[in-house]
Amino acid sequence: MATRFVIIGAGPAGVEAASHAASLGAEVTVIERAVMGGAANLWDCIPSKAMIATGAVLSLVRRSEGMGLARLQGTVDLEGLRRRIAGVSEHLRTSVCGLLESQGVRVLHGAGRLKSPHQVVAETADGVHELQADAVMLSTGSRPRIPEWAKPDGDRVLTTRQAYPPPEMPGHLVVIGSGVTGVEFVHMFRSFGSKVTLIVSRQQVLPGKDAEVAAALEEDFLNSGVRLLKGARAEGIDREGDEVVVRCDDGRSARGSHALLCIGSVPNSESLGLEVAGVEVDQGGFVPCNHHCQSNVGHIYVGGDLSGKLPLASVATAQGRKIAEHVMGMHTRQHRHLDYEKAASAIFTEPEIADVGLAEADAFAIGRKIRVTKVPYASNPRALIDGDPRGFVKLLSDPATGVVLGGSIVGRGAAELISVIALAVTAHLKVSDIVESLLVHPALAEALSDAAE
Ligand SMILES: Cc1cc2nc3c(=O)[nH]c(=O)nc-3n(C[C@H](O)[C@H](O)[C@H](O)COP(=O)(O)OP(=O)(O)OC[C@H]3O[C@@H](n4cnc5c(N)ncnc54)[C@H](O)[C@@H]3O)c2cc1C
Repeated sequence: MATRFVIIGAGPAGVEAASHAASLGAEVTVIERAVMGGAANLWDCIPSKAMIATGAVLSLVRRSEGMGLARLQGTVDLEGLRRRIAGVSEHLRTSVCGLLESQGVRVLHGAGRLKSPHQVVAETADGVHELQADAVMLSTGSRPRIPEWAKPDGDRVLTTRQAYPPPEMPGHLVVIGSGVTGVEFVHMFRSFGSKVTLIVSRQQVLPGKDAEVAAALEEDFLNSGVRLLKGARAEGIDREGDEVVVRCDDGRSARGSHALLCIGSVPNSESLGLEVAGVEVDQGGFVPCNHHCQSNVGHIYVGGDLSGKLPLASVATAQGRKIAEHVMGMHTRQHRHLDYEKAASAIFTEPEIADVGLAEADAFAIGRKIRVTKVPYASNPRALIDGDPRGFVKLLSDPATGVVLGGSIVGRGAAELISVIALAVTAHLKVSDIVESLLVHPALAEALSDAAE
């Protein structure tokens, strides 16, 4: 009899696991209570990047004069923008559904929960379904964290899920939180012409990121008129007519037309029946798992944001694939575990930011000798041709062996270019491998080989 594999939550982790397990011969059922493709498709990665992409077109239009064109105007069509974003999500939803259907995956639209370690219940519009499972995967993701001092109203006090776009384009947006999500929203709305104030709880935006990278972004924000309120923690939001006032713990406040909460997320682990199946949850509500993504109950797996590892869709997808293989018994000693330290990540600001592997500060903290080489985009012909020479490529390698250990990129195409460094880090390539690759000219990638020299 085929392995019965039941997956609760169809975000990147659940969809990848379903598709891969089906291709390996499992009998797969997926339970999804909202939209196939998950929060990633409906509220997070896809709509945010779709809106940023439209903002990038507007920025290009504004730079038209510098590109040898007569001055162009760009006007936002709010309804058109809304339709475009919904259209991209819908396209992806349809292709996920088509793929799973073609693979014979059963999809149940409703809420799923464990009834016992080997039983899952799906409550759908047409009734309650009880499913027997040899293996279960929990991939229910996370949702925006809403502190008790904030009352999002979808009008002027917003969560990220209410911002694609909000009912009206903010005249002045106060963004609370300067992590990856916060800075992406700062960039998104300033590119649409909103005034933006960013509340930064520490002294640097992007806490934990390379200081030079964060400084480059801060400089760009300041140059484009973004106001940074540093060392301030928001602790209240008041609505005053058509305005919002965000109060901070140091007595300062920020007044704007809208406020946007970007202060992290909480896992969707309630109502999953974890207790009845004996699945442990940590203090933050995440479900801890081992390197095979197994919870403390061996046949119950956890993937995506719920696992409390790196909250990235790319990581969720990789976990889903590993889980499918483990469920289907493909776990030999040679089978590589996911190395979260080597996950590439990007921040879709302008300039774009991406990094992978060892960070300079971490190498310093552990006393590891490294070779750091840095090349500015200003010396890259393609960046000059494209009219945007902001940023740099920084490469970290082992001084003795030349093996590439990590890197950061700030500038055009960073999210794409980081793949080359990610591949080098994963495959233990040397800087000489990059230098000796015959690259295209003129291309942004030449900055990588320059940094590798
Ligand atoms: C604004 C924003 C932008 C982001 N941009 C990026 C990006 O550019 N790149 C990137 O890699 N990551 C990005 N992320 C992170 C990324 O969205 C998450 O890491 C990713 O979505 C996690 O995937 P997941 O598989 O855990 O499932 P999710 O995408 O979180 O989906 C979980 C699904 O489970 C369903 N579900 C929950 N409970 C139940 C239940 N009981 N029964 C049935 N279904 C249930 C939900 O309806 C949902 O569809 C972003 C996050 C945010 C907030």
